[in-house]
Amino acid sequence: MEYWQKEIETLSREELEALQLKRLKHTLKLAENVPFYKKAFAEKGISTDGIRSLDDLRKLPYTTKEDLRNNYPYGLAAIPLKDCVRLHSSSGTTGNPTVILHSAKDLDEWANQVARCMYMVGIRDTDVFQNTSGYGMFTGGLGFQYGAEKLGCLTVPAAAGNSKRQIKFITDFGTTCLHIIPSYATRLAEVMYAEGIDPRRDTKLHTICIGAEPHSEEQRQRIEQLLGVKAYNCFGMSEMNGPGVAFECTEQNGLHIWEDYTIVEIVNPETLEPVPDGEAGELVLTTINREAMPLIRYRTRDLTCVLTGECGCGRTHKRLARFKGRSDDMLILKGVNIFPIQIEKILMQFNELGSNYLITVESVDNNDEMLIEVELSDLFTDDYSVLQRLTRDITHRLKDELLITPRLKLVSKGSLPVQEGKAIRVKDLRKF
Ligand SMILES: [Zn+2]
Repeated sequence: MEYWQKEIETLSREELEALQLKRLKHTLKLAENVPFYKKAFAEKGISTDGIRSLDDLRKLPYTTKEDLRNNYPYGLAAIPLKDCVRLHSSSGTTGNPTVILHSAKDLDEWANQVARCMYMVGIRDTDVFQNTSGYGMFTGGLGFQYGAEKLGCLTVPAAAGNSKRQIKFITDFGTTCLHIIPSYATRLAEVMYAEGIDPRRDTKLHTICIGAEPHSEEQRQRIEQLLGVKAYNCFGMSEMNGPGVAFECTEQNGLHIWEDYTIVEIVNPETLEPVPDGEAGELVLTTINREAMPLIRYRTRDLTCVLTGECGCGRTHKRLARFKGRSDDMLILKGVNIFPIQIEKILMQFNELGSNYLITVESVDNNDEMLIEVELSDLFTDDYSVLQRLTRDITHRLKDELLITPRLKLVSKGSLPVQEGKAIRVKDLRKF
């Protein structure tokens, strides 16, 4: 097994926790420079000297997205602005956006985190890495750019969209690795096949990093098959820098979260009590290696769990399960909790179906109704009785998974809207 930083990635639990405590104490000293934290610590009667173990972390207050918005833009800076060299901002649909500040050291550490992730999945300095993320404020662009450069890849900052141009770069530059949104990966593969390019034969692609959207294991397998690559799940969020927070290793069984950078907690989102490993809850993260803007116990709204047991790759950093989605993505229909990813998981098991689908939820006579429209695959028949039987089979499987019966409509390929960025999978008309 090869490692980017073996001495860090394979630390014993004891050594890792000792490092975390040391870094946590340093982080709390920095946080005291922030009026918001200074006040929050005082209200809880906490002095940062009183934090003597990792368990003491629980005495500290939570930070929420709302707190970031309320302190927009520079209220949470822990160092003078003159020592900050970049900011990223995420657009909010309501209210102020959130801003994250970085020092030069923060950016270097972030690049190292991303390089470590990429190296973990077998990407090397001999690879040509094409990044199809939007650049600018979106962290998937510059985040991967600096990580790939640190690793030493020849890096192609293609940015988002324009499938034909992406494909030209992939074939002309001999691109071997991609960073891409999962829904766009299937879209790009479809365009390649339509252009008479078989990516398995006509490109050098071997590894892709997929993230920014929750996706099912079934969708991953479909992407791997279509493109003839290994696809690895990456997790990042702008509040925690961006990409590089957690990443799958070649075992493809959970995402290692770098515990020398963040402390992980999983809590019950209602009671905020910690839940044991193996149990699902909300991911709460504390940065312990960021100086410009440390975040203490940040509530991510993402639902996941810490996997138990050791990983075959030899890395000791905890693994997070595939994300179910954000707590905000959960749909409640007739009292039943449904994640869109549960629907995708079923749809992707039918070869007769393509990859594009749309879920619409509306209220009809005060009753919640769900309509799922899904495109048929290229090769499939338009024989009515076959389609009827297929509709029945899929509906049956959906009912088993969701516990409610959705209305299913199979539509011809190309009839649903295509997005070159993040796919819009759900329309909840009840909110308007
Ligand atoms: Zn592993």
